[in-house]
This record gives sequence, C-alpha cells and structure tokens, in this order.
Amino acid sequence: MTNKILLSLQSVEKQYESHKAVQSVSFDVPEGSIYGILGPNGAGKTSTIRIITCITRADGGQIFFGGEPLQPKHVENIGYMPEERGLYKKMKVEEQVLYLAQLKGMPYKTAKTEWEAWCKRFDIDSWRQKTIEDLSKGMQQKVQFITTVLHRPRLLILDEPFSGLDPVNSLLIQEEIHRLNREGTTILFSTHRMEQVEQICEHIVLINKGKDVLKGEVKSIKNQYKEHLFELHYALNSPLSAEQLAALPVLRIVSHNEERRELKIQLKEGDNARQLLAALLQIERLDIILFRELLPTFNEIFIRAVGS
Ligand code: ATP
Repeated sequence: MTNKILLSLQSVEKQYESHKAVQSVSFDVPEGSIYGILGPNGAGKTSTIRIITCITRADGGQIFFGGEPLQPKHVENIGYMPEERGLYKKMKVEEQVLYLAQLKGMPYKTAKTEWEAWCKRFDIDSWRQKTIEDLSKGMQQKVQFITTVLHRPRLLILDEPFSGLDPVNSLLIQEEIHRLNREGTTILFSTHRMEQVEQICEHIVLINKGKDVLKGEVKSIKNQYKEHLFELHYALNSPLSAEQLAALPVLRIVSHNEERRELKIQLKEGDNARQLLAALLQIERLDIILFRELLPTFNEIFIRAVGS
C-alpha cells in the first residue's frame, strides 16, 4: 500500500429538501487500502457513496479523485455495487455482463476475455445463457459482483457485498476482494456487520447523523478504545479459587468464572501489562494457561461511538 490518497472528501454536505442527510463528512482513502464506511441506519453512508459515484451532487465541500476535483469522467475508474442490486431481469447473463462492461468504456474483446476468466474463477459456465430472473438471489449477486469489477476499476465501492450469500459464497467474494486489493484495487466497503470490519478493513470512517464521528486505522482505533483489560485462564486442577485470587490486593478483578478458572483483570493506574504479568507469576500454585490483553470488538466501539 502507498501513502498516496486516491479519494479525498472534505467537509462534504448533502441536503434533501428539508433534511440534511450529510452534514459534514471528511475522510481520505489511501490508494491500495480496504476502507470501511460504517454507521447506523440512516446515517448518510449511501448518500455519501452516491456523491462519490456522481449519481448525485454534493451541496457543499470538496471531493478529489487521484488528486483532481471529482468529475463524471472519473466514474469509469470506479466500480459500484449498490445494496439495491440493479440487473436487467429479462436479459441473459453473458449479454448483460458484456453490455455493462462496454457502457463503462471497455472494448468488447477485452470484456469477453475478462468474462471468460471470471466464468472459470466462479465456475459459472452453465449460467451464461440463463436470464437473471432464472438465477437465485446469491447467484445474481455473484453476477452483479462480476459486472462491478470486470472493467478493473481503480476504486471499488461495495455496499453490503455479502448480504444474501451463504458462507461458502461469502468466503469466495471475500477472497476475490483480497485478490483484487493485492493487485492494486482500492476498496471502499460499507457494512453493518462489525466482525467483517475487523476481518477485512485496514481503515474506517464511522458516520453518524451525517457527520464523521470516528476515523482512522482499525488497529489504532481499537487501541484508542481499549480499557486496559486482560484475560487470564489458569489450570482447572489449581487449588486456588478465583475468589481467593480476587481477594489479592495486587489484582483488580472485574469478573470471574469459578468453574472454568477464567478471570478478567483490569490494570491498575500507572501499571503496565508486564507488571501485571510479573505479579501473576509471583502467585504460588497459579499455573497460567493464557494471559492476553482484551481489545474491544468493533461492535462495542460502534455502540460506544454512536451512543455518545
Ligand atoms: P442505511 O444503513 O439504512 O442504508 P444510510 O447510512 O445509507 O442508511 P442514507 O440512505 O444515506 O443512509 O440516508 C440518510 C438520510 O437521508 C435518511 O434520513 C434518508 O431518509 C434520507 N434520504 C436518503 N435519500 C433521500 C432522498 N432521495 N430524498 C430525501 N431523503 C433522502
């Protein structure tokens, strides 16, 4: 990944009649990154994406693509898979894929070569002459994914790309996202599924009520929200009860599971993990099985950031 910014939004605003859907959204998407755009329902994510893809215009702020002010000509470099899938139901799969690729400026021959490769990759040769309405929802979604990426866009915008897919197909699409990313495609990815954010994204922006309320690298956001909590598991046959451990003044135990010999410990003010581990190692007959820091999940971070 380079440090070059592919897409930059600066104080973007969008007003729909009396409602300001986007009040002030700014974020920079580094070239080659996988960037998550998150937020509760109605936060303004789709409105922001529709501005980036030139479907609607912003009423305020600035947007840059590859260092230039965003213009309709940039749309050829963007692949957008909206949450509301938009394929022509009566058209045959192959006809449709090639037609849409040509609309995005791809010569027929190149589109055909790329399509052949995707048919092999997804093992969908038998679908070519079927109409979209004859495909299941998940199959339609795979075709939609191909139409979004076939022209090899520089920026790929995916809105809930895994909704309606079974675990095998979710994994397939996830692997393709990573492959495209390794080959240089920048990915902007919108989802409500927080575990996907942790698995897939390197950076995120969280939008709430039309404003960006949290943004940055996933790792550093997790650190920023951490509560200095540690998890300790120790041997089941230990004579020490969790109650006994909880009574030790060196430990601040937040919760414990007596039967499983598992504890959640909070670091004392001014202490660090090394000091906590040293204190644990000094406790006689405490056979430690696991000791690790507990970082908040993105679900917890989302709720805390949006709730506040
Ligand atoms: P979700 O996660 O539910 O898809 P979102 O974050 O994508 O939500 P948007 O679709 O951008 O949210 O909507 C933001 C707000 O703008 C909502 O209150 C919505 O009702 C309103 N809105 C969106 N599109 C229009 C429109 N064309 N006309 C009027 N209001 C709109």
